[in-house]
Amino acid sequence: MLNLCFKDIAEFEKQFDGYYPTDQCECGGNFEIEISTAQVQIADKTITVNECPVQKCQKCGKQFIGHRIPPNIYQTYHQFQSHPGNNICMMSIRSDIRFEYAKKADFKYDSRDLNIPGCDVDMDPTNTEGFSLPVYFDRKVLNNFYTDDDYELDFFSESYGDIGKKGTNGWPYEWKIPFGIDANDKVILFLGDLDQIEDDRSIMFLKSYNVPSDHILVETELYQAQLKCIFSQPIIEERIILLRDGFYKKVNRCYGIDLSHLENEINEKRTTITKPVSYTEREVSGNIVALDGILNEGISQDGLKELCKAVGVTDNLKGLRTRKLLQAVIATKEGAEKAAAIVAPLFRLNDLRVCFAHLLPADDIQKAKERIVETYKLDSFTEYRKLYEALMNELYELYKYLNVAEFGNTCT
Ligand SMILES: [Zn+2]
Repeated sequence: MLNLCFKDIAEFEKQFDGYYPTDQCECGGNFEIEISTAQVQIADKTITVNECPVQKCQKCGKQFIGHRIPPNIYQTYHQFQSHPGNNICMMSIRSDIRFEYAKKADFKYDSRDLNIPGCDVDMDPTNTEGFSLPVYFDRKVLNNFYTDDDYELDFFSESYGDIGKKGTNGWPYEWKIPFGIDANDKVILFLGDLDQIEDDRSIMFLKSYNVPSDHILVETELYQAQLKCIFSQPIIEERIILLRDGFYKKVNRCYGIDLSHLENEINEKRTTITKPVSYTEREVSGNIVALDGILNEGISQDGLKELCKAVGVTDNLKGLRTRKLLQAVIATKEGAEKAAAIVAPLFRLNDLRVCFAHLLPADDIQKAKERIVETYKLDSFTEYRKLYEALMNELYELYKYLNVAEFGNTCT
């Protein structure tokens, strides 16, 4: 409950003249909208606002009334003035106002979310109100777009990316729109972006996972990037590592299993990775050795064994090491052959580390090099740029898959 008290209407007017609270608290925390009750006392009148959007600091708990609410209170106060003797009044804030976007799809959304700072102002004056209103979906919606070849799913980080529908006749995209994932694992798209989507199949995908708003937006990278322009797209190496983190978090959330291993060393290795400039052997091998340490060594074998059991792997796991265990997890969903292909980039990464770090006898290194040359259709092993870029794309695809795919039945 939020309590506000004013000695007269003049004080109320003064307080809310040009009122537009910020999205960040003095303490550094983010304000997010919560639906609560506000009790506003103006002189001898008490107005109770039910279902009122309140901005609450997620760190220190400080609260402000949503900035679009004071005009409603003001109006109620004046109606109230014409009924002397009546000092208590209740009002509610509508949540079901509809906007001029994505009308065909008729998505669920909450019009009170316009109280999130920035959602009701638009840099582009041709956009009418509601363009930047968040619409919420179950995270599983991503899996639909990921598994269908007519669409393309890209992650810029663990919780921010875009979805596109591939175009025909040489056009790259029919539509392409950004999405974010919030702390409750809801996928967020903006109503104005959704307006571009006209085809029935895409609408059906989205509609079947459309859920009520949880009002969380400010903390997301989607908000920081799209409404505040604070985000720069990380390099692919960093995106791979962020998606690895996202996969571990998902496993922890769904099964209570911790896949992390040697995290301190991994954080150190992360700092050594930089975008290659001339793709020399030194640059490429440095990143490959570091990535092998992060992706192949930085995963718990015991955790993977637990995960195998949790998703119903029935094979004998004895003697299996990390990559084979991960493969067994994927096989429960994709079958053995496809699982081997999905996980193969991690074997290639390890092969490459062996080549660059000279960890095996010369003959074995030669064989590993030949396998790499054949896989990536190189003229020679020293085509480092082609080799490196192909491997990064494969690893990115693999971790995108792990971040989106649903294993077992218990994960919700
Ligand atoms: Zn605060």
